[in-house]
Amino acid sequence: MRRFSLPWPSTPRTETALPNAGESSAPKNALPNGHQSASGTASQFAELFQGLPIACFSFNAQGRILDWNPAAEALYGWSARDIKTKTLWQSLARPEDNNPLRQQLLRVFTGDSLSVEEQQFLCADGTTITVSTNTFPLHDAYDNIVSGLTACVDMSGRKKAEERLERHAFHDRLTGLPDRTLFLESVEAALRKSRQKEGHEFAVLLLNLDRFKVANESLGHGAGDQVLISTARKLEACVAPGDVVARLGGDEFALLLERINNDEEAIQTAERIQKRLSLPITANRQEIFISVSIGIVTARIGHTRAEEVLRDAHSAMDRAKASGKARYEIFDKGMTSRVGSSLQMEADLRRALGRFELRLDYQPIVSLSTGIIDGFECLIRWHHPTRGLVSPGQFIPIAEETGLIIPIGFWALKEACSQLAKWQSGNRPRALPLTVAVNISPKQFVQPNFVEQIKQIIKRSGADPSYLKLEITESAIMDNTEAAIEMVTQLKASGIKICLDDFGTGYSSLSYLHRFPFNVLKIDQSFVSHMDSDAKNEEIVRTIIALGHNLNMDIVAEGVERSTHLAQLRALKCHYGQGYFFAGGMDARNAQELVTANPQW
Ligand code: C2E
Ligand code: CA
Ligand code: CA
Repeated sequence: MRRFSLPWPSTPRTETALPNAGESSAPKNALPNGHQSASGTASQFAELFQGLPIACFSFNAQGRILDWNPAAEALYGWSARDIKTKTLWQSLARPEDNNPLRQQLLRVFTGDSLSVEEQQFLCADGTTITVSTNTFPLHDAYDNIVSGLTACVDMSGRKKAEERLERHAFHDRLTGLPDRTLFLESVEAALRKSRQKEGHEFAVLLLNLDRFKVANESLGHGAGDQVLISTARKLEACVAPGDVVARLGGDEFALLLERINNDEEAIQTAERIQKRLSLPITANRQEIFISVSIGIVTARIGHTRAEEVLRDAHSAMDRAKASGKARYEIFDKGMTSRVGSSLQMEADLRRALGRFELRLDYQPIVSLSTGIIDGFECLIRWHHPTRGLVSPGQFIPIAEETGLIIPIGFWALKEACSQLAKWQSGNRPRALPLTVAVNISPKQFVQPNFVEQIKQIIKRSGADPSYLKLEITESAIMDNTEAAIEMVTQLKASGIKICLDDFGTGYSSLSYLHRFPFNVLKIDQSFVSHMDSDAKNEEIVRTIIALGHNLNMDIVAEGVERSTHLAQLRALKCHYGQGYFFAGGMDARNAQELVTANPQW
């Protein structure tokens, strides 16, 4: 407790009865009833009282204010003349404080000194101010308690500073959202409530922005910050009052939804969030598209600690990411064993190469000007001995996480080059040369000797590199732009063509495109396969094709599924098409037969 000493010693109490204190008869500025301080005369004391920088007032047993110094006048806004016509409860006390204040007064008049750390008083303008008060009994020359004296220190500044400090300590500075510690406390409280009150449900949603790192590094941290702030505000708008939105760090946010009745309501919130976050954010004069992967945990699981809730929300979120991002997953107890099963998949994948379980499928890419096959994209397939065909969407993320993508990627490249060499030699299915495109993972692309290794593989295969294409995605080039430009330039110098895959799904597609010497732009299938039903998608496809023409790049539209797509793409002068409308992936033998049959669309 903070105490400050006034310039007079406290006089020992000699009376216990409440004195019959009357109205002040002392001259102006003097303390009432002939009070005599031990350290000087009444007038000296009055002078000191008036000059004190601390707001002070004295009052009698009826609560009437007797003395009021200029510091009090400045603090509360009451003039000495006005306040002296009133009692404490007519001026400073809030109606609800009348009784406690009367009790305080009684104690002073029985000789007690009181300190109140935080007391609310009313100002003349009706506002409330927080003060810390020290109240003492004042004695006359005969040691009778004649009045009480209160000294007040304005605490509103300190209170604000404390609030600021508290916010600072437990809130994220960028977004102003509660931080991890505060979030865990809220979850802890929700767990307590659900234990105490049957049927008290809650849900925790853990969110991670997909590919935020790419936006942050390509557009600059200022734009990245704007994305985080905008995401924070959007999340707040998606929840009910009383729910908690927190930033756990980086691009990870968490929500605590209280008043949830069933899983369905948590799912609805997750869907609302995904919809709202899918609207573009403008930062650095560019539109940035954000998607989010969400892990959901509900109170039903019966956790005992907040950390466990977060851990399981993490597992669910990881799963949402692994199954293609921009999704949500609800945690169930089986997920722990499924996490185990991805470990099993990793072990199986390590053996897959040696056991020849991996194959390449070839999907035709058709020239839209001639209508005939230009070449193929190689798509990896895993023929698992017990699981059957495992899609690359399931195992490529695991291969990337574990680093297995490096040997797997080089295997695919060797396989594709040897097929290309066959199609370029005596085994030619037609006179016109074919192209072969190979997908390169970002993890492979950042290998220090990547260019050298590629060149060696091509050399050993005997293939003519001018018909080899490497497909890379934006994430491969975003992390280290300058080095990536250098690599693309070197690869191109050896005759290889470089394609930018899944174009349109990244954040910053247009800003860097002119800096990269790509040969080919592949429009992501999500735009193409909906271009006949959604005018916005058609507009995007149209813009990308125009851009490709301007930058002198070939355009491949992926996801051509219907004849209407083909007609639209032809009208837009798109160079190439790929999709189920022409054919899906097939093994090398079928691909070769297809070329020999020479279909024309
Ligand atoms: P991607 O590079 O975008 O490959 C195209 C994907 O679209 C393939 O899926 C293909 O089967 C599918 N697709 C083809 N036509 C259509 C269509 O008309 N409509 C729709 N909706 N989809 C179509 P797939 O084979 O499941 O491959 C998925 C992804 O796995 C590929 O996407 C690529 O990112 C990755 N991948 C495949 N093979 C390799 C590889 O050898 N190395 C690496 N690093 N990644 C690979
Ligand atoms: Ca591809
Ligand atoms: Ca693609």
